[in-house]
Amino acid sequence: MTSPVIAVGTDDGRPDFGPGDVDALADDLLALLGPRGISTLPRALERAGRDGSGMSPILSAQDLGTPDLVCYPRTAEVVPAIVRAAVARGVPITTRGKGTGNYGQVIPRFGGLVLDMTSLNGIHEITDQTITAQAGARMINLEQTAWGSGSQLWMYPSTVQSTLGGFLGGGSAGTGTIVHGRNHEGFVTALDVVYGTEDAELVHLEGADAQPFVHTYGVAGVIVNASVRVEPLQEWRCLYASFGSTREAFDAAHRLSSVEPRPRLLSADGPTIIEALPADPAFVRGRANVRGIIDARALEESTDLIARAGGRVEAVREGIAETIKLSTLSYNHPTWWLQKSQPDRWFHMEVRGDALVTRLEEVEKVYEGGMLHLEVGHGMMFGMLNGIYRNPQQVIDGVAALEELGVGVHSPHQWYVDLDAERVQALAARTDPKGLLNPGRWM
Ligand SMILES: Cc1cc2nc3c(=O)[nH]c(=O)nc-3n(C[C@H](O)[C@H](O)[C@H](O)COP(=O)(O)OP(=O)(O)OC[C@H]3O[C@@H](n4cnc5c(N)ncnc54)[C@H](O)[C@@H]3O)c2cc1C
Repeated sequence: MTSPVIAVGTDDGRPDFGPGDVDALADDLLALLGPRGISTLPRALERAGRDGSGMSPILSAQDLGTPDLVCYPRTAEVVPAIVRAAVARGVPITTRGKGTGNYGQVIPRFGGLVLDMTSLNGIHEITDQTITAQAGARMINLEQTAWGSGSQLWMYPSTVQSTLGGFLGGGSAGTGTIVHGRNHEGFVTALDVVYGTEDAELVHLEGADAQPFVHTYGVAGVIVNASVRVEPLQEWRCLYASFGSTREAFDAAHRLSSVEPRPRLLSADGPTIIEALPADPAFVRGRANVRGIIDARALEESTDLIARAGGRVEAVREGIAETIKLSTLSYNHPTWWLQKSQPDRWFHMEVRGDALVTRLEEVEKVYEGGMLHLEVGHGMMFGMLNGIYRNPQQVIDGVAALEELGVGVHSPHQWYVDLDAERVQALAARTDPKGLLNPGRWM
């Protein structure tokens, strides 16, 4: 089954619960967590019901849901007790990290309990293979800890402040993906998960047993602890280059992607998007840009390649602050900055395939004002195609045209589980038999 381009809400999967069940759960949680561990205050509920879906004008125009109460566990041990209480009352549970997911997948569609994991942010252990932490640990803190031990994460998203549980629950790729693929492709080595059952406990899963819980929006279990892969730290350089045209920049990014050792990140944009990014001397007005986290051993070959491709090196920087900064300008972030600089104007589609480079002009023409942000992915080109927003139909109409050009499309305007949905639904039927974990995520 292919994912729809835009979400159409129905009440399918709405758990049968009412205000009395919510009140009873509030009493249970008060007894478990104390008065500071739970809130029904409008400000807290508003915060707990917000995420990055503002990037989609289509999702923004819809009522995606409002929580009835939010709780803040401070120990791993209390999480199963919270889940048991909610399941006993029949109240849905939506697990929340930093709330940067941009498909509305952390907004509780039918209300109920939001389980805010951000206080569970401890880092347990780092070895030369893995780092183990609580689900609320920030990705930036994991990367910093890894560097302190001479290691680096296999990958982290451009939303570096987002949580480990949220990246595993709702994210997919980022800095490191060029080499290691997406986060469900071996990044996780072990998880402690709580299922949505009346006798819920922490369940420890390793290897192949842990993988199926990744990128499932928390519908199959609450991740409490996770071990993810690290590798020996490389000597990184942040390379910024400018080009006279977007075409030259994208061609260069394509070629840079195969220089060995391979880059950790490679992003490219035309002059209009570059102007929307935070000012930096390495971003030259009127010129396209390629920026990458490049292994120091590949620097000479990469700078030669840039010169041969008609570009100019604008800066070479080093240190973790610089690599993190460059990461925060990748993936969805250029679109985010574009939308910030010109509010209520732009939408985007996630697109992939070599046609993004080989047929760039045709791809950009599909949508009015079309501008592509390019990322190098794992063995393929990937990007965000930005267009001027008119209406939902115009967004849908562009998909066929893109596919005709050989472009793969993933829509960020829908909230359904989009990775092997049938497999995830079968898993959730076992681990969440009452359908209380983040319900309403099936087409
Ligand atoms: C500007 C911008 C840039 C982005 N860049 C990237 C990027 O580079 N790469 C990328 O992959 N994504 C990206 N995203 C999407 C999102 O930021 C990431 O996926 C992020 O890692 C989500 O983490 P979070 O802590 O904010 O999770 P949340 O948004 O809180 O949650 C995301 C999903 O995971 C579930 N979840 C959260 N915690 C748990 C848990 N402990 N157990 C089970 N399920 C859980 C939630 O229910 C929800 O469905 C971007 C979004 C924006 C707005």
